[in-house]
Amino acid sequence: MLDAHGRPLEYLRLAVTDRCNLRCFYCMPEQGIKYLPKSEVLSYEEMLRLTTLLAGLGVRKVRLTGGEPFVRRGLLPFIEQLANVPGLTDISLTTNGVLTAPYVPELARLGVRAVNLSLDTLDRHRFAAITRRDELPAVLRTFDALLDAGIELKINAVVMAGRNIADLVPLAELARTRPLSVRFIEEMPFNGGSHEASAATLPWHHARIRQHLEQHLGELRPLPAPLGNTADEYAVAGFEGTVGIIAAYSRTFCGSCNRLRLTAEGGLRTCLYSQNGLDLRALLRGGATDADLLIALQQAFYHRASDGFAAERERPLHQLSFESMATIGG
Ligand code: SAM
Ligand code: SF4
Repeated sequence: MLDAHGRPLEYLRLAVTDRCNLRCFYCMPEQGIKYLPKSEVLSYEEMLRLTTLLAGLGVRKVRLTGGEPFVRRGLLPFIEQLANVPGLTDISLTTNGVLTAPYVPELARLGVRAVNLSLDTLDRHRFAAITRRDELPAVLRTFDALLDAGIELKINAVVMAGRNIADLVPLAELARTRPLSVRFIEEMPFNGGSHEASAATLPWHHARIRQHLEQHLGELRPLPAPLGNTADEYAVAGFEGTVGIIAAYSRTFCGSCNRLRLTAEGGLRTCLYSQNGLDLRALLRGGATDADLLIALQQAFYHRASDGFAAERERPLHQLSFESMATIGG
């Protein structure tokens, strides 16, 4: 299915929980987080029903995210059920890696194709300062386990002015001798009220990140990328892996966006910068039939904003910083 701007629906990002065992400062405040009551989070059965319907509309790829997916019990049996959904050919997940290492062999057995591991620094003190938890050793165990298991690995590093600029080159260096991609993400304003974010406080945009990396690593040579990719991928001379830059704040990738987001409470987001649109939980729990749900999903996708700037304009002013990426799922 295509939206009104001719973009296909292929990819679903599914936030299985809004809870997390870290408190990354760019994502959440340290205290006072209001998690959803369990009864307001979609059950796995409800998520499976929606995913199956969306697969019927063309979704081929599902990424499990959160919150931290591994803090929700029953994740692996759910992945096993997803693996049997007709039409779904690609299951991947995004994790902070704190609890993940012991599950990696099972993820490989279930056919999980790829894991994005969030890692903003290799320095234990800076890790603890950014995430407000001293968990770098556990994350590095997950890093090793994923490489050993042969699961495709991407590192996600948020670029934060004044916090981890010294880490960009050491993180990129992970790709020198390993078959992985290290992707640098422009910081976005969604931080659950943790700090006031604006163009002035988020100055590390794509061009500046690229220039910084090139100063230290030499030329970043653009690589061809499949349509719908948010990362611009680059080859670096002498590197086995690649580096990427995700213009999440500049929003240069909207023209080929092929994705929907489902929040843990069952909100359908047709753009990262949009508000919760369709309340699927209300429809599901109000007795909607599959036909009702399909019509609602099709209409929501068809009418989505042309890009992230248009979606932002449709929101009440200055609201972005009050939202947390743990609700949206990244
Ligand atoms: N807890 C998991 C994790 O951290 O990988 C999955 C959910 S997390 C919300 C998904 C991704 O969003 C992570 O890679 C995280 O770094 C990124 N993220 C969170 N807040 C962000 C922000 N304000 N700007 C840019 N990226 C952000
Ligand atoms: Fe948790 Fe991921 Fe948000 Fe960090 S970015 S607080 S790990 S949900």
